[in-house]
Amino acid sequence: MSSLWYDGSELPVFSSLNENKKTDVLIVGGGMSGILTAYFLKERNIPYILVEKDRICSGVTGYTTAKLTLSHGLIYSKIIKKYGVDVAASYLRGCVTALNKYEELCQNIDCDYEARDNYVYSLDDRQKLENEVLALERLGFDADLCEKLPLPIDTVGAVRCHDQAQFHPLKFISEIAKDLNIYEHTQVIDVEGSRAFTDKYYIDAEIIIMASHFPFIDRYGGFFLKMYQHRSYVTALEGAGKLDGMYVDESGDGLSFRGYENLLLLGGGGHRTGKRGGGYACLRDFARDNYPDAREKFAWATQDCMTLDGIPYVGRYSESAPHLYVATGFNKWGMVGSMMAATLLCDMICGEKNELCEVLNPSRSILHGQLFVNAFETLTNILRPTAPRCSHLGCALKWNSAEKSWDCACHGSRFDENGRVINNPANKDLKRR
Ligand SMILES: Cc1cc2nc3c(=O)[nH]c(=O)nc-3n(C[C@H](O)[C@H](O)[C@H](O)COP(=O)(O)OP(=O)(O)OC[C@H]3O[C@@H](n4cnc5c(N)ncnc54)[C@H](O)[C@@H]3O)c2cc1C
Repeated sequence: MSSLWYDGSELPVFSSLNENKKTDVLIVGGGMSGILTAYFLKERNIPYILVEKDRICSGVTGYTTAKLTLSHGLIYSKIIKKYGVDVAASYLRGCVTALNKYEELCQNIDCDYEARDNYVYSLDDRQKLENEVLALERLGFDADLCEKLPLPIDTVGAVRCHDQAQFHPLKFISEIAKDLNIYEHTQVIDVEGSRAFTDKYYIDAEIIIMASHFPFIDRYGGFFLKMYQHRSYVTALEGAGKLDGMYVDESGDGLSFRGYENLLLLGGGGHRTGKRGGGYACLRDFARDNYPDAREKFAWATQDCMTLDGIPYVGRYSESAPHLYVATGFNKWGMVGSMMAATLLCDMICGEKNELCEVLNPSRSILHGQLFVNAFETLTNILRPTAPRCSHLGCALKWNSAEKSWDCACHGSRFDENGRVINNPANKDLKRR
């Protein structure tokens, strides 16, 4: 199902690649991270090409809820605990810089940009909220604990960050992308050294940036161990009243709320892709009980890449692949994450220092509990003797009757009824039986 953002948006159209090319930087993927990277490379006069296998923004970016905030769940207390105050401070500064850049760009773009407070609430753990406020205070950011929320749920409070924002992602990208060097309907099938192959042509580039959501080159980087995908559902309700702030449950499987014009965007029902979860039914039950007069105008689902430690992977793909860079693992916070990624990648390409280089380094330690969950899930599904099998690493696929797709619980690839890839890392359709 299509998201509300496609209703009335006019994204620029680009032709497909029709000859071999040579450039300095090739960007694979036309979502928020790839397009912002192309935009900043153009600003710095660095020759680049962006290729997109479908239309730009046909991936997660077209289905986001587009909140712009530094408050990525209760991330700061977690980062301080895992990596210390200095790393958390760098992450926070990266987010603030990214937010400021959005504010600056949006001044000249008609994209419904609105300043809003952001609230991360908890249903049952006040201590976690208090810890996050203290963590933010230690980092010099003024957040507060809020008692009462204008939501039809019982919470124990929320961490409030003032002056965050929300916008219309496709109106924003329509303007940002219009003069960029983009080829649509151009899928990269493989990369060898500094050459990327499509089905008919190749592009030689000194640097290749994988901004394809889940990176699909498995020879390097081990992303198939470091990430899984989490699927979530959104309904846009008319007649549910006006909501000014942006709200999200600190637990990854809870609800999220924001307004857009006369609509309430209610998100949730999330689960690991390929597993069972609340789905649309959970959101519709909630809407029926709490907004009985509301009408569903749009409903859609999408998924994002989740990392082992909740921090994105941006930078060199692997120590052993000097030509390859990556921007992925945004943990459902890829609006601000993409802005951080784009500025970091441009700085790295230009040889400039950026304090996020180490923080977001994809080769940082993988020793986190989630690694074992990912490994267990992959092993179980590789050994499960059912058909069909995923074209990525051969895991058993499960039929998703709600969305009529074959889904892989290992890494989140999805295929339509006819076996065509909907979500990567799979880069090939299923073989016909
Ligand atoms: C339900 C939900 C709500 C969210 N809400 C928010 C929010 O409120 N705020 C926030 O900050 N973040 C949010 N996010 C996260 C955010 O939307 C994503 O992290 C972000 O859009 C990811 O952008 P991307 O460029 O990495 O990926 P994508 O937008 O998926 O772009 C990748 C592109 O690469 C292309 N591609 C793939 N393979 C190839 C290939 N082989 N050759 C060429 N092209 C290829 C794809 O077609 C796609 O267009 C949300 C996520 C979900 C799931």
